[in-house]
Amino acid sequence: MVKVIDLCTSCVQVITNPLCPHCFSNHVRAWLRDKNLPKEKMREIEKSLKKLVFEADSTPSDLKCVICGANKVNLCLYCVTNKVHRILEKDTAKKVTKEFDEDFNTQIWRI
Ligand SMILES: [Zn+2]
Ligand SMILES: [Zn+2]
Repeated sequence: MVKVIDLCTSCVQVITNPLCPHCFSNHVRAWLRDKNLPKEKMREIEKSLKKLVFEADSTPSDLKCVICGANKVNLCLYCVTNKVHRILEKDTAKKVTKEFDEDFNTQIWRI
């Protein structure tokens, strides 16, 4: 039987590839460095990413992140990717969001 705690708090699917929002947002930050976005855009994105991490911090979870080992995984990769997609959509050009989808939907799974 699957414990309720192992389910994604957003889509209620089993989390198979646990990655905490903290590590995920680090990946996004590293990825954004090459995009040369204006400073004020970066600041907005940074704020939204922090909020995402904060929300995860305030939701207890038993699931360990595969990278940092913290028990903070409450979203599946699909949902966390989706949330960041929406953040980028709001603050960047369509091109950047599209590149994010391409890079993260294919690469992030191979960690
Ligand atoms: Zn989910
Ligand atoms: Zn982590």
